[in-house]
Amino acid sequence: MKNIGILALQGSVEEHRRMLEKLDCRITEVKKPADLAGIDGIILPGGESTTIGKLLNRCSLFAPLKEKIENGLPVWGTCAGMILLAKEIEDEQPHLAVMDIKVKRNAYGSQLDSFSTKEKICEISKQPIELVFIRAPYVSGISGAAKSLLTLNNHIVAVKEKNMLATSFHPELTDDLSIHRYFAEKMI
Ligand code: GLN
Repeated sequence: MKNIGILALQGSVEEHRRMLEKLDCRITEVKKPADLAGIDGIILPGGESTTIGKLLNRCSLFAPLKEKIENGLPVWGTCAGMILLAKEIEDEQPHLAVMDIKVKRNAYGSQLDSFSTKEKICEISKQPIELVFIRAPYVSGISGAAKSLLTLNNHIVAVKEKNMLATSFHPELTDDLSIHRYFAEKMI
């Protein structure tokens, strides 16, 4: 059985757990370096990237997590998680800096500008998937091996690069398991 970690420092941890529980996998909440041992992949949830970035340092997770991802650990960042993975953040210092993308934080405005829509992501599912954007980033630049999976109004909102997946939106806030299943079954 695959053992999937969820970075559990802040943010939508419970929501991701609820989704993974519906798939056939073991779940490990990652709060300290020892929790990284034995996981087959990790989800970086939505939340507040600045806070999660600080907590990664405080919990001594920053270096071991970055190293594991660079060595091929499958990772999926949702929203704030996407920001943590990016090598560039507009007007700010990057965090884990592992993915060849540049992101713009809060690119759609404030909480009041949150929205949801439905789109098909061909790589992931034949059906349209509900996409929930909450103070979401988008990808404003892409390079290297990073490949866009979905653009919305000319902005990239889902991207994949080798063992790394990043989405601007929150599949864990919907009932659609497609992306969790894709991550657990196709990337791990
Ligand atoms: N706006 C948040 C940030 O910049 C991300 C929001 C989210 O994860 N829903 O970190």
